[in-house]
Amino acid sequence: MTITSHLLEAYLKCPTKCWLRSAGEQITDSTCTQCTQAQNESYGVVEIRRLLSRTDPSECMFSPPADNLKAGKWRLATGVLAQTPHLESYLQAVERLPSQGHGKPANFITVRFVPTNKVSKDAKLLLAFDALALSEMLGQEVNLGKFIHGDNHATLNVRTSALALQVRDRITKITALLSNPSPPDLVLIPHCAECEFQTRCRQKALERDDLSLLSGMTVKERKKLQDKGIFTLTQLSYTFRPRRHPKKLRDKREVYRHALRALAIRQKKTHIAGSPEIMIEGTPVYLDVEGLPDRDFYYLIGVRLGNLDSAAQYSLWADSVEDEKRIWNEFIGILANIRDPVLIHYGSYETVFLKRMGDRYGVPPAEFVVARAVKKSVNLLSVIFAQIYFPTFSNRLKDVGQFLGAKWTGPVTSGLQSLACRLEWEHSLAPELKTALVAYNRDDCAAIETVTSHLTQLIREATSRTDVEFSDRPKRIASDKGMEIHGSLESLQRSAHFRYARSRIKLSAVKAAQSLSPQKQKAKRRPRRRSFSTIKGRIVRVPRRRICPTNPGHKLSASSKTSQHSLEFSGLGCLPAYRIANVVSAYLESHL
Ligand code: SF4
Repeated sequence: MTITSHLLEAYLKCPTKCWLRSAGEQITDSTCTQCTQAQNESYGVVEIRRLLSRTDPSECMFSPPADNLKAGKWRLATGVLAQTPHLESYLQAVERLPSQGHGKPANFITVRFVPTNKVSKDAKLLLAFDALALSEMLGQEVNLGKFIHGDNHATLNVRTSALALQVRDRITKITALLSNPSPPDLVLIPHCAECEFQTRCRQKALERDDLSLLSGMTVKERKKLQDKGIFTLTQLSYTFRPRRHPKKLRDKREVYRHALRALAIRQKKTHIAGSPEIMIEGTPVYLDVEGLPDRDFYYLIGVRLGNLDSAAQYSLWADSVEDEKRIWNEFIGILANIRDPVLIHYGSYETVFLKRMGDRYGVPPAEFVVARAVKKSVNLLSVIFAQIYFPTFSNRLKDVGQFLGAKWTGPVTSGLQSLACRLEWEHSLAPELKTALVAYNRDDCAAIETVTSHLTQLIREATSRTDVEFSDRPKRIASDKGMEIHGSLESLQRSAHFRYARSRIKLSAVKAAQSLSPQKQKAKRRPRRRSFSTIKGRIVRVPRRRICPTNPGHKLSASSKTSQHSLEFSGLGCLPAYRIANVVSAYLESHL
């Protein structure tokens, strides 16, 4: 079995992807993969041309056969196929450093071209794989690799020998994975959004009602549930138990519960936990920003004012990094013309944007309304998170917005596509790509408006809506019959305790009029509790708490009144019961 860099690249993202690629599974979603591939290739072509232009043509080789690599005096080779019985990699470029001394071999450096400004760990492992394949083919150590990356053609040297162990470990795992005739367990991950098999895998996950459909669930959480025998969302939904907060924790924010989301999905109802609040005191201004995180550059600011068809949309576009300050100032200018603006956005991307732009280009002084709007922007996601559970698999704007009726009508429908589209526009400057990006941003702003109005309505009317449940209250009544049953049960619950009849207080005019006379009340008094003590096998009943005949002001704790020798003991006065019992006992012994 031959392990290629193409398979390793897939394995580093997802073992299932590696297996599917190796098995030749049909690709269902090629857009993102094609975009990334095209971007890498075009960047590579430009950089190879640049390298070739700086090298003497007599020292360059193009797609050389393996035998020629060790011989000759070349310095730069492009399109090198490094192939062994087990490993295979297509190297974009290889540099050769002349021998450092007599008898010493020349050194080789594998080169990779990466369009991004940041180089990921996966990219470094792929470079190490290239070096390993080349070294096995040449039968000589290749310890160095090099990246040429980003907008400024930066160079990053990597000691590939330090990564060789990790690469060998991955190769062993891939070999084991591919020797299995069936694919590994399916687990949806964030990378699925850009994977060529996403439709196939999502379909399978839906069929299996798989736990990984919930986007926020970590591997550890899933494993923990599986250890308990919970494998599907339906099973998970039945594990939800409402919990009351202790009084002292009442102000504490709710924690996110996957089981409640699973329940919301199963019941197709929105669930509310705690008391969500949304404060919009002023004119709502819906904000959505597009940017290139790799370059830390924001190229499109979308601002929406007003509602529905009467809404006004502003799309502030930056052609390059130099335009970023201009669009920020335009944005501040728009806010300055609005009375009490309240910025509303979805997610933390805009929060970071507002902070960074303020740091980079400044905001008006704190006493201006614009500064207050920037500082106190409303993040809808923080209102929703752990408090409102829509019957969707995630809290992403696309999921929640679509559930609430928002639509994305243009060719660009996701953040990933927008990234690819912007990069393509930078190469081609095609106006239709810019139009598509502006339309995508406008749809995002409209979706934020839809979510805001639905949220406000939902929080206001939650108690009266039948499509909403509260996590800390009993299940809501959905029909008249249900209302009748719940009413009876609640009345039973109120009165179903042991001392109910006794503890009740009844105020009745009739009963008050017929109240008993004081003598009868006395007669009806509860009988006094009596205590018993034994004297030589006889039972002597001793009534409690009597008035001492000798000292009328004292209360007796015991008396021998009921015994047959009561007269003799009448003068015992206020002696405690055990003393009386001793005296009685001594008396009986001497007289009987
Ligand atoms: S869609 Fe997701 S789970 Fe399926 S192969 Fe791609 S990354 Fe893996």
